[in-house]
Amino acid sequence: MKNIFILMFISVFLISCGNDSKVIKSEKNVQLFDLIERVEPPNWWVEMKTKNLQILVYGNSISDLIPKIDNSNVMLNSYEKVKNENYLFLNISILDNAKPDEIEIDFYRNSVLVDMRIFNLLEREQNASKVEGFNNSDVMYLITPDRFANGNPSNDDVKEMYERPNRENNRGLHGGDIQGIINHLDYIKDLGFTTIWLNPILENNMKKSSYHGYSITDYYKVDPRFGTNDLFKELSHSAKEMDIKLVMDMIPNHCGSEHWFFKDPPMDDWFNNQSEFKNTSHRRETIQDIHASEIDKKEHADGWFVKTMPDINQKNDKMSTYLIQNTLWWIEYAGLSGIRVDTYPYSDKDFMTDWTYAVMNEYPIFNIVGEEWSDNPAVISYWQKDKINHDGYVSYLPTLMDFPLQISFAEALLDDFNWGKGFVKPYKTLASDFLYPNSNNLLIFPDNHDMARFYTQVNNDIDLFKMGIIYYSTMRGIPQFYYGTEILMNSDENPGDHGLIRTDFPGGWPGDKINAFNGNGLTNKELETQMFFKQVLNWRKSNEVIHNGNLIQFAPKNGIYSFFRILENKMVWVIFNRNTSSKTLNTSRFDELIKNNEFANDVLNKKRISISETISINGKSALILEIE
Ligand code: CA
Repeated sequence: MKNIFILMFISVFLISCGNDSKVIKSEKNVQLFDLIERVEPPNWWVEMKTKNLQILVYGNSISDLIPKIDNSNVMLNSYEKVKNENYLFLNISILDNAKPDEIEIDFYRNSVLVDMRIFNLLEREQNASKVEGFNNSDVMYLITPDRFANGNPSNDDVKEMYERPNRENNRGLHGGDIQGIINHLDYIKDLGFTTIWLNPILENNMKKSSYHGYSITDYYKVDPRFGTNDLFKELSHSAKEMDIKLVMDMIPNHCGSEHWFFKDPPMDDWFNNQSEFKNTSHRRETIQDIHASEIDKKEHADGWFVKTMPDINQKNDKMSTYLIQNTLWWIEYAGLSGIRVDTYPYSDKDFMTDWTYAVMNEYPIFNIVGEEWSDNPAVISYWQKDKINHDGYVSYLPTLMDFPLQISFAEALLDDFNWGKGFVKPYKTLASDFLYPNSNNLLIFPDNHDMARFYTQVNNDIDLFKMGIIYYSTMRGIPQFYYGTEILMNSDENPGDHGLIRTDFPGGWPGDKINAFNGNGLTNKELETQMFFKQVLNWRKSNEVIHNGNLIQFAPKNGIYSFFRILENKMVWVIFNRNTSSKTLNTSRFDELIKNNEFANDVLNKKRISISETISINGKSALILEIE
């Protein structure tokens, strides 16, 4: 009698709240409905160091459900209700010696089993914890997935998503996808790249500008316009087979305003300024500034990046746990070789310590690169692992983007070489390397998806452009180039226009008249630049002296600047002449390093030259000399 009453009660309740859940199975004490919409993370793996998980369960009015797990591999320690009745948080432990298994989580209401979900405990791939992160033996190719190649035109327009494709709009969806990248891995490898970093690929179901990927609306799902989770994993595996590492772009600071958990947050402090939009002041330096006021610190840290990107509150323990688990899940699921972290100093800095610790603890030789867009090496170095900071702040972030070098080197190419100008600028930037615990672990780059194309920065001067490519390919650190740099893609029309910077790669779309993948329709200058990239990067690939060699620089004089990379008995000398005319360099000033060596191998011109007295170097050019 009692059970019948309960079942009738549920039916009435479901009808009255308009829930479309259907009865799946009906028997004594079991009445299954489709109540649970989300279980996140959706699965885990055995033999990971992270064994205590908090599972977010989401569904319509589910907070009164009683979860139960009866399994010898997993223990349900506790469960928590929060303010919003659509959430339950389950605290589970994966037991020592747990075996791969399908874990059944049962949900009861008034002693009746009303829903169940399978939580898979999977076996890890071989050596999953020993995945090698990108490092200074690598060169990174940055791709904006919507703009590189359309490998699957059938996913260009996904009707369940808000935004329609439109190639006429440079801020619209153009159809590029993960399949397009898989199709062209051979092109990337052939150029000499060993790592690819993709701008974010998770779901961005936003009403406009969803192409760039920085407004995530589901942290566990690849955007269907780019492909599926399985296809992303396939990309990672295919790349690995070709010795190409995959770096995923992650954004712990904010999500998109169409994110399901922003529209229906579990509690009042899931986001910062949750009830009312407040813009960040962008005053990142308040983090290091010993004179900063409290209001300035708060206005920077808790404000939103833009109105469509709510600021995540990582000081909330449940949110912090959610983000950390999500990151570990993607590394393990896809077999990633690295993470690039967007807007690093906008997140709560103590959370970033916990987050980087969790990742590096689980994957000790992994790599993570953070974006701190500052021209000041003191500010950048604050975030690097092992830095002893004035305020005691501890970080586990191995790599940072070297914006100070990018900014000063761009100026060097454009300036004349008078006192304090030209190469003196990057020379001085490098002289600040003492601030870094590990300056060899900096990501160095001439441009990225957020700044004027490098060819535009140097006013379409091919000589200056090549000097830049040589500089970044031989300097300490991990070089990164943006897709299309190898064919002189520019943003001349409107240098800082994001849509224009991220122009479609020619040959990536059916019917393209120019195809940079096979060279059809490229100008001679573009073809030569592709060849130049191939030559320099493939030479770099096998030269450990460039990866790990000590760096010795010589102060610029008369428009000539040079540095040496030295490892054991191998030495590479890179010389830049910023003058417009050819110069003769007296080599005696460099005797402390070249000693009695009389000859060097001129890598770019493929000849042996004498270095015993003078070297001749053309105007606006660079030389790479190998001395053994
Ligand atoms: Ca497509």
